[in-house]
Amino acid sequence: MTKPAAPSSPIYMDHAATTPCDPRVVEAMLPYFTQMFGNTGSRNHKYGWDAEAGVDKAREQVAKLLNADEKEIIFTSGATEGNNLAIKGAAYMYEKAPAGQAKRGHIVTGLIEHKAVLDPCKRLQKEGFDVTFVDPPVDGVYTAEMIKQALREDTILVSIMWANNEIGTINEVREIGKLCKERGIVFHVDGTQWVGKMPTDVEKDNIDLLSFSGHKIYGPKGIGALYVRRKKPRVRLQSLFDGGGQERGFRSGTLNVTGIVGLGKACEIAMNEMEHDAARLFKLRKHMEDSLLKSLDYSAVNGHKDKRLPHIANISFGFVEGEGLMMAVKDIACSSGSACTSASLEPSYVLKGLGVGDELAHSSLRLSLGRWTTQEQVDFAIEKITFAVKRLREMSPLYDMHKEGIDISKVEWAHH
Ligand SMILES: *Cc1c(COP(=O)(O)O)cnc(C)c1O
Repeated sequence: MTKPAAPSSPIYMDHAATTPCDPRVVEAMLPYFTQMFGNTGSRNHKYGWDAEAGVDKAREQVAKLLNADEKEIIFTSGATEGNNLAIKGAAYMYEKAPAGQAKRGHIVTGLIEHKAVLDPCKRLQKEGFDVTFVDPPVDGVYTAEMIKQALREDTILVSIMWANNEIGTINEVREIGKLCKERGIVFHVDGTQWVGKMPTDVEKDNIDLLSFSGHKIYGPKGIGALYVRRKKPRVRLQSLFDGGGQERGFRSGTLNVTGIVGLGKACEIAMNEMEHDAARLFKLRKHMEDSLLKSLDYSAVNGHKDKRLPHIANISFGFVEGEGLMMAVKDIACSSGSACTSASLEPSYVLKGLGVGDELAHSSLRLSLGRWTTQEQVDFAIEKITFAVKRLREMSPLYDMHKEGIDISKVEWAHH
């Protein structure tokens, strides 16, 4: 397989944030920029027909990956839009407003969802919907039982992510879907980290709405898709944009033909190669986690030990300072357990949600591997991180005190 012409330094271990475009995807897209550049809405000439043929093929490729029908695929600009369309679109369509009752309906989601789910839910809350944000367990995995506890008579929508983008944990989607089906509740899944990496079957998995994104699966940025169930039951959505009525009225706007063709190709490649990729990445990730945990005491993997994606590791290292750690591992492009907000570095709300303390959240790394990650890169990362953590600890008075048996929970932490 051709290696993408990406810079090799720092080594890229942030595939949960975005992936390089597969060269085969770029190749498939190129003719649609310059030759088959038509608008799919142009019904009277070859340019329009060629563009439409490209989109039709992509729709088939996407549908096949999900075991869906082509008519159930709506192209969006990415998972943020897909989530917004699914959540707001369903809420407005299915709101229950019994006479004399102020509530517009009840929505259930998780506390450690992506912002692209949390924020639309918070907006609906402001608009009068009732929303339950279910607390995660310490292992981060949502079970059907946990969701069941949150359901009410007036629940209209459940939105749960398939796999968590920070810790890689996998929720009980199929079981939660079954629960929703039994009660006639619309079930949305943010599948951005799952689709294209793991087998997906909207029928068996009992999903009504499924959003995902091109750039997380070796496709281009700014394109994604939303699956909308058409039978058993037919799910309706109120559209967010008014305009030309494209995508059967769900999503007005001239179709991003190049992006769509790229997404289709990315889905086709994923379909063929996910099994191989997942098995290979599982071994690499396991090797990385095992090696780091073995050589560094006071380190721990965040999230469930086994119910997790093959390629994401999120590890906390005790007794090191977060910013120092990030500085020391800058040869590795990865994410930390800190989120940049306008004012300061905040500990990740996902790790916080699991009960990880602020200090430990800051000294966590998310290492996410991908299609071109090599054994050499993983070994380099292990070496680099081990060295960095040990060196930082040599300079840490807390680590010394702890080694000497002083109970540091009784010692004032130095804040910076
Ligand atoms: C990346 C991501 C998103 C946002 O996707 P975009 O296509 O960048 O808008 C939403 N949900 C999850 C779980 C993600 O990982």
